[in-house]
Amino acid sequence: MMDKRDPRCMICNEQKPGIDVRPDSVINTLRWLNSHTLKYKNKYRPVVCRECFQKYLKARKSFERKRTSYLIIGVLFSVVLFVTSRADPWSILAGLGIIALMYLLSLINYTPELELPRGAPQGGAKRSGDATR
Ligand SMILES: [Zn+2]
Repeated sequence: MMDKRDPRCMICNEQKPGIDVRPDSVINTLRWLNSHTLKYKNKYRPVVCRECFQKYLKARKSFERKRTSYLIIGVLFSVVLFVTSRADPWSILAGLGIIALMYLLSLINYTPELELPRGAPQGGAKRSGDATR
């Protein structure tokens, strides 16, 4: 890619090389907003350095967990709304709004995915000691 900006670790904020963040829909949206509204140019390329990788994995996991629970809460809320309103069609619309809102709330803890090479250790996949002789 044509990204020539200096890499900066998004965990410790130090300028050093690391694993690139994978551009996903959230990042692309933020970039689009940046270039169209704020006229603000991000000088640095977000990466995660080697030292912060474990910290990153934890943050990513907790983000995924939160996102899932937020969405579950949103869905449950919508179902309750649908049932209590006796299947009013507007409640479906309101329910979708609630789910979208919960999704946006989960983005407060947003931790992007990294461009990990295939088959890279994802934590947890550790060798189990010296079981064999
Ligand atoms: Zn770092």
